[in-house]
Amino acid sequence: MKKLSERDQRYLWHPLTQHKTHPGMLGITSAKGVFLHSEEGHSYIDAIASWYTCMYGHCNDFIIDRVQDQMRQLDQVVFSGFTHKPAIELAEALAKILPANQQKFFFSDNGSTAVEVAIKMAIQYHFNKGEKRNIMLALEEGFHGDTFGAMSVSGLSVYNGAFEDFFIKVIRLPRPTEDNIEELLHKAEVLLEENAIAGFIYEPLVQGAAGMKLIEACHLDPLLELMRNYGVLTIADEVMTGFGKTGSNFASDQIKHHPDLMCLSKALTAGLLPMGLTTCTREIFDAFYSEEISKGFFHGHTYTANPLACTAASAALELLLTDEIQTDICRINQMHADFDARMKRHPKVGNSRYTGVIYALDLAVSMQRYGKLRDTLYKKFMHKGVFLRPLGNTIYILPPYIITDDQLSKVYQSIEEVIDSI
Ligand SMILES: *Cc1c(COP(=O)(O)O)cnc(C)c1O
Repeated sequence: MKKLSERDQRYLWHPLTQHKTHPGMLGITSAKGVFLHSEEGHSYIDAIASWYTCMYGHCNDFIIDRVQDQMRQLDQVVFSGFTHKPAIELAEALAKILPANQQKFFFSDNGSTAVEVAIKMAIQYHFNKGEKRNIMLALEEGFHGDTFGAMSVSGLSVYNGAFEDFFIKVIRLPRPTEDNIEELLHKAEVLLEENAIAGFIYEPLVQGAAGMKLIEACHLDPLLELMRNYGVLTIADEVMTGFGKTGSNFASDQIKHHPDLMCLSKALTAGLLPMGLTTCTREIFDAFYSEEISKGFFHGHTYTANPLACTAASAALELLLTDEIQTDICRINQMHADFDARMKRHPKVGNSRYTGVIYALDLAVSMQRYGKLRDTLYKKFMHKGVFLRPLGNTIYILPPYIITDDQLSKVYQSIEEVIDSI
C-alpha cells in the first residue's frame, strides 16, 4: 500500500496551498490529547490546537461519549419548522455565559458563515428599519474568513486580487493603539458623519491571523461607544478568541461595551465537528420580527444546528467551566509570563506579547508571510516534534488547555533552540 502522502497527490487540493512549491502533505493517522501521530511513526505536540479548535485535547473521551449517544438518538434534521434538545440545551448553557445582551442565537457551519450571517443581519437590520446603510467598517489586518462577505471585511487580502472587484463596500480603520487612539477616534467620527455605515466588525483583544496582535480593551471601548452613538451595529468576531483563549470566557467580557452581535466557531465544538454561531441582541431580532414575511432573515444552511455538533458544543462548554480547565488556563498564562520574561531579553526577538493562553513573539528579521524562512522555521519545529505554524516572522503558541507543564516547556525550549539556530 502506498503512503498517504503519495496517494494524496492524485486527487486532493489543499487549503491555503500553492501545490507547485509545496507538494508534500504529511499523513496524520491519529491524534490523542495534545499529540498528532503521523504515518511515519512520529508524534507532534499540537501547540496551536489545530487552529484553536481542540482546546480540551484531541479525541476527548467525554465529548466523544456524549456525541456517540446523541448519534443513536437523532443524527440530523431540518432546523426550519423543527427544533431539538441539543440546540435548546446548548443555547440555554451559552446564554448563562455570554454577555447578557446576547439573546438570540443563529447557527451556521463555520467561522466564515458566522461572519457572513452577522454582516447580513447588520445590513438587513437597517434595511428593515427603512434605512439604507451599505458600508461596513473593519480594522486593518483583521481576519474574518474566506467567503465573500468575510473576505471583504478582512484586511489581510494579499492573495485575494482576483476577487477585489466583487467585494462588499468596506472602510478600514487602523488597529487602535496608545499612540493613535485620539486621531483614530476623530477619523472614525468623520467617517461616521459622512457615510452610511451598517456595522463595525472587529476581533476583540487579539487579531489572530494578523500575527496575534493585541488590542487593549481601553482602546476598543471608546471606538465601540462611538459606533453606538451613530447607530452602527458592532460585531465581535470571537471565532478565535472565544471560549477561554484570552483568560475570560469571551474576550468581550473584558470590554465595557458589549457587542450587538458575536461570531463563534472553532473551539465552540472543541474540534470534533464544524459549526458556526452568530448571536445577537433582542433588539436586532425584533427588527426582523414582523407580519411581513420579507422582513424575516432568509438565510439557512442545510446542516444548521446539526444535533451532533450541538452536543459536542454543550459537552465542550461543560468542560470549559470545570475548575480543572479554568486552573489550566491560569497555569498556562503564568508559564507564558515566565517564558516571556526570558524572551524579552533575547537579542533575536523583537516584540513579544501574551494574553490568556495565547503567546506570540516577532523575530527581529523581516520576512514574507509564506516565504522561505517561515518554511524553514516550520520544518525545524516539526523536526523537534512540535507543530507550530509561524505567521510570517511571528511565532505563536495557542496550546490545548490540557497541555502539561513538561509538554509546554518542550514547546518553549524548541522555540528557543530554533531561534538560536537561525
Ligand atoms: C478562523 C477565523 C475565521 C474563519 O473561520 P473558518 O471556520 O475558517 O471559516 C473567522 N474569524 C476569525 C477571527 C478566525 O480566526
